[in-house]
Amino acid sequence: MVFDDIPIFKKHVREYAVMKKCMFEFRKADKSRAYLWCKHRKNQNCLWQVNAITVPNEPTAKIMFCNLKHTCKRMKGKRNPMCNSRFVADYMIKTLGVTNSIPKPMAIMKLHIWPTFRTEIPYWVAAEARLMILADLHGRFEESYTKIPSLVKEVKGLDD
Ligand SMILES: [Zn+2]
Repeated sequence: MVFDDIPIFKKHVREYAVMKKCMFEFRKADKSRAYLWCKHRKNQNCLWQVNAITVPNEPTAKIMFCNLKHTCKRMKGKRNPMCNSRFVADYMIKTLGVTNSIPKPMAIMKLHIWPTFRTEIPYWVAAEARLMILADLHGRFEESYTKIPSLVKEVKGLDD
């Protein structure tokens, strides 16, 4: 399996962990590699592990080794700390239509994250995620705003 880069690989594995109701931690992580193992490696000797590295001179990251079999006990409860505010914000940005307004925290919890992942998130995680979405969309607005002067210039050029 190939990914664009290590940050995208990390996002992908997090989504996998939320879906599968498991947890991992980073054994090593930098720009060129991410080695993960099960959160219960030490206390339950679970050998679930995924190692990804970037390939020199190639703009991709790929999995060099993986063992996707968890031998640890299934998570109890409906919460997974892997489902953090950054994850929730990224998921919402990925699925929100351009014209849709941003749902309130309670709606993010009940209408988006729970139906998709069967995972409960605390209110503050949803609220923090909402702020991240707003900041991200605002950033995009600023970006497009700075393009207006050059657009005006181009339109004027057409008149000449
Ligand atoms: Zn495990």
